[in-house]
Amino acid sequence: MTDVDTMATRLAGIRQRIAQACQRAGRAPDSVTLLPVSKTFEVDAIREAMALGLTRFGENKTQELRQKAAALAGQGLHWVLIGHLQTNKAKDAARDATELQSLDRLDLAEALHRRLLNEGRTLDVLVQVKTSTEPSKYGMAPDQVAGFLRRIVADFPTLRVQGLMTMAVNSPEPQEVRGCFRALRELRDQLRQADIAGVSLERLSMGMSGDFELAIEEGSTEVRIGTALFGARSYPDPQ
Ligand SMILES: *Cc1c(COP(=O)(O)O)cnc(C)c1O
Repeated sequence: MTDVDTMATRLAGIRQRIAQACQRAGRAPDSVTLLPVSKTFEVDAIREAMALGLTRFGENKTQELRQKAAALAGQGLHWVLIGHLQTNKAKDAARDATELQSLDRLDLAEALHRRLLNEGRTLDVLVQVKTSTEPSKYGMAPDQVAGFLRRIVADFPTLRVQGLMTMAVNSPEPQEVRGCFRALRELRDQLRQADIAGVSLERLSMGMSGDFELAIEEGSTEVRIGTALFGARSYPDPQ
């Protein structure tokens, strides 16, 4: 292999860094899943990633997801919504997404459930939790999550809770970033004590291109990687 910067070499580098972070944390390397985040990148880039064996992709806008899913239909891909979802987009999400990692409020849960009943399907979800004080970050307040999970189990059975998701603070201080990841893991541990029947808390989706190794050291089971895999985004992402 040469040193040429290709998606294949970037993917190998990311996998190696995941494995090293797992080793530092005393974790098995296969305990962390990579979610490639293809938002803003062209269908051709997704094809290139598919040729490397990737089949699950993260998107943050339902319209963009719809276009890409249509262009790549019939190829067994799984589409994961990771961005803030407006309630009026619940119909699109219920139709096109395999999974939603940004469930952060009751009215969205209600709208999704109604649409999922129409579609006759269930949806795997992660509850997005706000672990930083940055006003620009979405997510449910940690102390609201237990009650929210009970409501989902009681009233919205089409939503299958698999765990929690967070975005860490944007900070040059690794300790601050780490604190967000640790807060999510501690919340998960507390919620396990509450023993809420009908939800799984196995998955912790945390860590992005700039901070995934810290997230793995704090217990992440899934890292969401965009730019480190696909390259720099040509237009800014508001999130
Ligand atoms: C864009 C995005 C990512 C990936 O960010 P990178 O820094 O490009 O790796 C991960 N999670 C969410 C919620 C995002 O919106």
